[in-house]
Amino acid sequence: MPPDTDRMRAMVSVFADEATKAGFGQVTPPMFEDIGVFVRLGEATDVVTKELYSFEDKGGRTIALRPEQTASLCRVFVEQRPLTPWKAWYYGANFRYEASQKGRYRQFDQVGAEVIGSADPDLDTELIALAARFYERLGLRNVRLMVNSLGDPADRAAYTEALRNYFTDNVADLTEQSQETLARNPLRVMDSKREPDQAIIASAPTLADFLSSEAAAAFDRVQAGLKVMNIPFDIEPRLVRGLDYYNRTTFEFAAESLDAAQNAVGGGGRYDGLVANLGGPDEPGIGFALGVDRTLLACDAEGVMGAPATNPQVWIVAATAGVEGIAIVDRLRLLGLRADKAESSKSMKAQMKRANKSGADVAVIIGEDELARGEASIKPLRGQGDQHSVPIEQLETAVQEYLE
Ligand code: AMP
Repeated sequence: MPPDTDRMRAMVSVFADEATKAGFGQVTPPMFEDIGVFVRLGEATDVVTKELYSFEDKGGRTIALRPEQTASLCRVFVEQRPLTPWKAWYYGANFRYEASQKGRYRQFDQVGAEVIGSADPDLDTELIALAARFYERLGLRNVRLMVNSLGDPADRAAYTEALRNYFTDNVADLTEQSQETLARNPLRVMDSKREPDQAIIASAPTLADFLSSEAAAAFDRVQAGLKVMNIPFDIEPRLVRGLDYYNRTTFEFAAESLDAAQNAVGGGGRYDGLVANLGGPDEPGIGFALGVDRTLLACDAEGVMGAPATNPQVWIVAATAGVEGIAIVDRLRLLGLRADKAESSKSMKAQMKRANKSGADVAVIIGEDELARGEASIKPLRGQGDQHSVPIEQLETAVQEYLE
């Protein structure tokens, strides 16, 4: 509902502007795909195993509502083969079957960006900067950027084994959910935000000790890039993404003005194995997704990003037998003003009452008397000034002058 819809639209347009400046083109993937597109994201992710909305269509195909958009963008890349590095951004609704609560919905909007076809760590920096500048432009000041490197697949494999051993030694102290996750993917346990798991996670081995020299050099370069752009960040060694196709740079933004359980406003990382996993060429990629609904909550908490003005500037009260009212409304709208009117069938008095409630700055009044004189009246509804008449052909200029 307004004003939140107006704020969300403004937010998306800020993102569109930042992404366009940075050379990203908008892609609008479909809301539903063959379920296979998402299943290949990985059997070990909650969005696929537990949260996918799927159904059979009339043609007997199994379809799923998208839980995220990276897989669809990779599919688009594989089918279209655009020039690389391909920089694409998107916006739209995702669907996940989750327990809904404040900041967590079964339908929620994301904006996101992906770069496919280059492993250049400067692109990692650029992508992180796009998200950081977006939050900055919204006026958010308490969004913390955390970065980490997941290393290369061999580094990950060694680290995963170390984690498996560590969590297995401490399995009795883990929550039941995390015990289940451990059996599927020990890395995913690190994502748990549940209180009892936190103490165990805090002392777990960190990936930094397992990085290859190439992965370490790439991570150094990303950090140097962020520093030169004056984008503050913390290295968060425990930030992991549990999917096999994720590697090297990973990052997350936390809105510190929100409750810890729901303060992740966005995140992303490199996924050099995903495009190949989806049946495409072995092209590297990196991307992020930012939660629009949750970012709006962060804006509320910080008192920024107010609604753009949508109240009418001019309210037309036309109590004539003819169509003068809609003609005036149209002329004012053509000038670029927000103009509206009450129903012409209502009495002058009822229309004036409505004008006073409209939130408009000024009313334009035209009754049979004014019409006969070729005039209209301008009545300030807020602020200074008295009602006065102007010749009808000067109405637009007079309204504009008043609004200045
Ligand atoms: P993910 O695609 O899981 O990496 O999520 C990226 C961002 O989307 C998160 O940081 C949240 O801001 C947002 N998000 C994810 N799931 C939900 C949800 N169920 N409701 C609202 N926002 C969500």
